[in-house]
Amino acid sequence: MEEALQYDSVYLCARSGSAAARAATASLALAAALASGAVRNGFAVVRPPGHHAEPCAAKGFCVLNNVGVAAAWLAAQGERVLIVDWDVHHGNGTQRMFQDAANPAYMSIHRHDGGAFYPAEKRDDPDTPCPASAEFVGRGDGAGYSVNVAWRGGGAGDAEYAAALDACLLPVARAMEPTCVLVSAGFDAAEGDPIGGCRVTPGGFAALAHRLVHQLPSARGRVLLFLEGGYRLDTIPACVAACLEVLLAASDAAAGAAENDNEGSSAKDGAGACAAKVCAEACAEACAEACAEAVRCAGHCVGKSPESVYHETVLQRVLSAQDEQAGSASSEPVPQGDATTAADESAGSSAPSEGRSEGESPRGEALEAWAEGILPSAAAAIEATRNAHRLLWPVLRE
Ligand SMILES: [Zn+2]
Repeated sequence: MEEALQYDSVYLCARSGSAAARAATASLALAAALASGAVRNGFAVVRPPGHHAEPCAAKGFCVLNNVGVAAAWLAAQGERVLIVDWDVHHGNGTQRMFQDAANPAYMSIHRHDGGAFYPAEKRDDPDTPCPASAEFVGRGDGAGYSVNVAWRGGGAGDAEYAAALDACLLPVARAMEPTCVLVSAGFDAAEGDPIGGCRVTPGGFAALAHRLVHQLPSARGRVLLFLEGGYRLDTIPACVAACLEVLLAASDAAAGAAENDNEGSSAKDGAGACAAKVCAEACAEACAEACAEAVRCAGHCVGKSPESVYHETVLQRVLSAQDEQAGSASSEPVPQGDATTAADESAGSSAPSEGRSEGESPRGEALEAWAEGILPSAAAAIEATRNAHRLLWPVLRE
C-alpha cells in the first residue's frame, strides 16, 4: 500500500490498522488487569510488534507502540514502571517516548554493531551519543533512566544475555525500585533466527524472565511480557512457552503463598517452585566486554558493587544534568517517586479537545471512545494512542 511507503520498513495490508489497534488495546487491557490486581503477571501475544513505532510514525514492522502505551498508562496510575527490552533490535520508539522522564525507565539488550544494525539511527547532533549506544543514558529528568547494553556483533547466547542482566541491568533496576516490569519480549535473538544472528535458547529466555520475576523485590513478580520481533516461526512458540512456564509457576507459587497466609502458616518464597530454573551463571568474554562498556558509560569503576556504582555515579549524573538545566530548580533529584509528575505532565497535554489533527476519521473517534470506555482514567495512554493513531487514520478510513 502507498501508505506504507512513507515509513521505514513497514508493510501494511487492508487489516493492518485494526490488527495494530487490537494489539495496542489488548496490551492496555493486560496493563489494566495488572493494575486492578486481577493478574500478577501475563503475556500479551500480539502482532504487529510495537517497540520501533515512534509516537507519530510507524517503523520497523511496528505500527503502534504496544508496550509504550501500556507503560504510559501504568505510570499514570502511579506505578514505577521498568521496561526491559530483550528483542535483538533497539527499541528506538519506546526509548524516545520516555527518554526525558525518570518513569518509565527503559533498558535494552540489543545488537548495535557500531551503529550499523537496525534501526541504525544517526545521532541527533555530533555532541550527543547514538540513541542505541551504551553512551546514551537518557536526557534531562530521564538522565540515568535509559540503559543500553549494545552488542558489537552477533553470536551472543544464554550466558551473555544472563550476564548482561546480572551485571548491568538488574543492579541498576533494583536501585530504581520499580513496582512492575514490562518486557518487550522479542525472540529474534533466538538461535537460528534469520535476522538476529544470536544464539539464545528457549531456556535462556526463560532464565531472563525468571530473573525479572524473582530478583526484583520491589516489583514482587509483577511482570508483563509483550511479544515483539522473532522471525523463525518454529522457534517462537518454544520461547513463548518457556517464558509462560516461568510466569505460570510464579502465579501458582503466589497463589499458594496467599493460601498459606490465609491458613495462618508462614508463606514461603515462591522462587523455589519455579519449574524453569535455567540460570546461566557464566559471563563469557563477549558479554563482559559489552557489559563493561555499558557500565563504564554509567561511570562504573572496577571493584565497586554495582549498587554503589549506581548511587555514586548515575545519581550524580542525574543531579548534574538537573543542575545544568537553568530555571528548573523545582524538580526532584531523587531517582524514584516521579510517577505523579510524569503522569500529570502527560495528562495535562491530553485534554480531549486538544491536538485534533486533520486526519481524524469517524472510525478513529470510535476507537478512542472504545479505549476511553474500557479505561476511564487512562489519559496518558489515550494521548499516546491518539498520537499513534494519527498515522493510522488514513488506513482506518478505508
Ligand atoms: Zn527485533
